[in-house]
Amino acid sequence: MTYRNYLDMSRDQLIKNLEQKVTKERLKHMISVEETCIRLAHLNHYDAKKAGLAGLLHDYAKNLSDSEFIHLIDKYQLGEELKQWNNNIWHGLVGTYKIQEDLGITDKEILQAIRYHTTGSSQMTLLDKIVYVADYIEPSRDFPGVDKARKLADISLDKAVAYETAQTIRYLVKKRIPIHPQTLQTYNAYIHHLNKD
Ligand code: GDP
Ligand code: FE
Ligand code: FE
Repeated sequence: MTYRNYLDMSRDQLIKNLEQKVTKERLKHMISVEETCIRLAHLNHYDAKKAGLAGLLHDYAKNLSDSEFIHLIDKYQLGEELKQWNNNIWHGLVGTYKIQEDLGITDKEILQAIRYHTTGSSQMTLLDKIVYVADYIEPSRDFPGVDKARKLADISLDKAVAYETAQTIRYLVKKRIPIHPQTLQTYNAYIHHLNKD
């Protein structure tokens, strides 16, 4: 299978490439997210090939070292403020720059979905929601509440986004981990979906 329009290589070639970039375990997760994105794309009448590619690539930068991230934040001029965060917040945004540079992917929708896959955003496209939710509910995930998130994802991506964001914030607060403003914006924009039928 090729990714006509998006990427000048076959899926097999892409997988070989990813094997050099991330750990075996991480690649397994990325392939599970790919499959879940394809399923959610079918359910929501979105281009399944495009959703699958975004899912497969979403954690492209996850296994970079902190010093590589700091170097890339300088290289791409992403701002000093970003440096106070960590891999969790860096890998989506920095990943989009690496994906453009290493693989030549320029599709704006794919890059945006990868950028926001950890925090969400206040105005998510259908592809943004598919990747954000698929990352949370792929079959090997085992968070508290993941089964409820899976059920909601079959009913409404907006409800699943709201629920997932609330669960993530609950977890971050419990662990006393700083919440990124973008995560709070997602919560504020989507939480009302859980309060209606
Ligand atoms: P993964 O890359 O497949 O493990 O999943 P994600 O990209 O969704 O999340 C990576 C990590 O970031 C997880 O441990 C989340 O709990 C964490 N995370 C999500 N939102 C925030 C946030 O607002 N602030 C911080 N500090 N971490 C977050
Ligand atoms: Fe991630
Ligand atoms: Fe992920």
